[in-house]
Amino acid sequence: MDRIAFAYMGGEEFSDVFFEVYDRVRRYFRDVGLAIVPIYVGRIPLPPGTLARVETSEGYVKMYSFEAVVEALYGKLVEMKESVHDESLTKIFGLTTYPVGSRDPHLDFYKKYLGLQVTVANYHVMVLSMKPFQSENRFLFVERVFKGVLHEIGHLYGLDHCRNRCVMNPPSDVQEWDSRPPTYCNSCLKKLRDREELKPMPRFPL
Ligand SMILES: [Zn+2]
Ligand SMILES: [Zn+2]
Repeated sequence: MDRIAFAYMGGEEFSDVFFEVYDRVRRYFRDVGLAIVPIYVGRIPLPPGTLARVETSEGYVKMYSFEAVVEALYGKLVEMKESVHDESLTKIFGLTTYPVGSRDPHLDFYKKYLGLQVTVANYHVMVLSMKPFQSENRFLFVERVFKGVLHEIGHLYGLDHCRNRCVMNPPSDVQEWDSRPPTYCNSCLKKLRDREELKPMPRFPL
């Protein structure tokens, strides 16, 4: 079994969407029989100083600094290790309200950005921004973010991009993203199921 800490980062505006996505991720992995268990670890408020105004081809966009977000998530894992002496929690997923980018104004982060992950020491930090997926249609908003979370978790467990009808098939725009089904394809699922740490626990002690 593998646990992934989930943190909500930013202001209150998308917290309902965050929890719907979180519940859906929990149910999804249970339903497909993968022993991946999300654990909610709280909201991490980001100080206003971490929000930068960055010029992109779509005009000025507000973004969190990549370094600040990664540091806050890494800090959360270290804090949990020290407070509850739990060393088995080594993966954390942060869902941010605003996009995340480096302060370099020459790169078009906003448009290309889907999610990112970095390894710091033995810890794995994943980040996905909710804002680029925003829609008036709440179901669609939740679904888009949910698929983004599956995509990043897929990478975490070694999946590459895929050409099938699959969340591992990266889109060129949000319309294409909406056409992806909210699941891994059979071939990606098989790769995940073959991983020893993701095999479901027996229901009864043997
Ligand atoms: Zn990807
Ligand atoms: Zn696939």
